[in-house]
Amino acid sequence: MSSSERDELLAQTKKQLLHLQSLGVDGIQLDQCSNLATAGAPVNSLRSKTAPTRPEQLIKETPAPQKSVTTTDTVLFGDLKPALEMLKNSSETFEQIHQEIGDCTRCQLHRERTTVVHTEGNHKARLMFVGEAPGADEDIQARPFVGRAGQLLTKIIEAIGFKREEVLIGNVNRCRPPGNRAPLPDEVAMCKPFLLREIAVVQPEVIVVMGNTAMKNLLDIREGITRVRGTFQDYRGIKVMPTFHPAYLLRDPSKKRETWEDLKKVRDYLESTAK
Ligand code: URA
Repeated sequence: MSSSERDELLAQTKKQLLHLQSLGVDGIQLDQCSNLATAGAPVNSLRSKTAPTRPEQLIKETPAPQKSVTTTDTVLFGDLKPALEMLKNSSETFEQIHQEIGDCTRCQLHRERTTVVHTEGNHKARLMFVGEAPGADEDIQARPFVGRAGQLLTKIIEAIGFKREEVLIGNVNRCRPPGNRAPLPDEVAMCKPFLLREIAVVQPEVIVVMGNTAMKNLLDIREGITRVRGTFQDYRGIKVMPTFHPAYLLRDPSKKRETWEDLKKVRDYLESTAK
């Protein structure tokens, strides 16, 4: 490798690590990026205002055996690479996506649903809200978030300075699960790609994901909502703010305060990037 190639590689490495750090990653196990140290990555230069002061705090060494690796890419980024893929622009329309969904029978949820509940709102929205799946009111009206939880969501949207019709509102699953149970993994796997296609069409700047189930179904994340809420996450370059589900706020109004803190961060971010 020439010295200019090496410099470019080191610059890219630094950029990716700083990106991960900005997403809240506070350490990378060396068994996931073996040879990083021997590749000469400038770990000292990874310090930032909020970063740990010592490189060994940023990159935690573990005694795990080193994997054998073949390419520079896998040596440096290992399992982390998919997280760095950015969302591509899509020229599809919602109409095309909804037509393809059709009178869907792809999973068992179709058996007890009344209607398929599609994402609705502004197709140029800067802000999107994503829930878990329709409830009884949504199932009847074929619109997301129109029941009691939906009315609270509308107030939340207005509290941060938007009208409901200015944002985009959808669910990971489009059919009401019987008894409002959480959608099963195969039901999520069947339905989620349509939501992701809509996100690719609209490219919102921020997605607010509401509740533990929706958060875990949208993002590849293990921690629960109580831990993750209030911290911006990433979905392929789009900022994602996890917060409590409005139905949960109806059951426990004391959680409205934390939800308000989370939504203020979203409002402030959107204000800071407004043109
Ligand atoms: N809860 C959800 O997650 N989505 C809705 O559309 C309504 C209630």
